[in-house]
Amino acid sequence: MLGKSMVEPLHQPVLVLNRYWQPVHSCTARRAIKLLWLGRAQVVAGEAGRGYDLYDLKAWLARPGDAEGEGLSLKCPRGSFGIPEVIALTGYDRVPRKMVRLNRRNVFVRDAYTCQYCARVFHEKDLNLDHVRPRNAGGKMTWDNIVTSCIRCNSRKGCKLPEEANMHPLRKPQAPGWSPIYGRAPAFESWTHFTSRRSA
Ligand SMILES: [Zn+2]
Repeated sequence: MLGKSMVEPLHQPVLVLNRYWQPVHSCTARRAIKLLWLGRAQVVAGEAGRGYDLYDLKAWLARPGDAEGEGLSLKCPRGSFGIPEVIALTGYDRVPRKMVRLNRRNVFVRDAYTCQYCARVFHEKDLNLDHVRPRNAGGKMTWDNIVTSCIRCNSRKGCKLPEEANMHPLRKPQAPGWSPIYGRAPAFESWTHFTSRRSA
């Protein structure tokens, strides 16, 4: 869970539900407020066991006592209001992602920024993605064929198969077990009510 004082209010993560209240992703508070302002989302607030209510922006701003509530709040000319932790989109019925997105950053995070061939840790800018089975041998851009590699190892391995180059990844690559919605851990207790129902 995030420490409340650690985060800039507008950068606080907000869980985004589709209109069936299934979590679809998370966004920043800045984005969430914009969606509320545009009428494309409503705040979901309440308590597990006691039920949840939807608030449009006007109702949310008028909610009594929220400004000094336990969550983060944002000052604005008319006072202050609580930053929502969960919102629901009003016109979005796509289903949640099942897999963590495969991109450079997520591969580096999965591999802890460690070159899978020389075992050294590098800065992001000094890392590449390596196809374990190279493209010219039919290797695909998939979680089980892509690993973090430093530039030197990457060019040393080139287009060779692991056996040919005698270079094998430290760990067998696979899709990370994180949530595709929020990464490795939910930011707020309030999210778990929605995210734990995800696979149901
Ligand atoms: Zn290396």
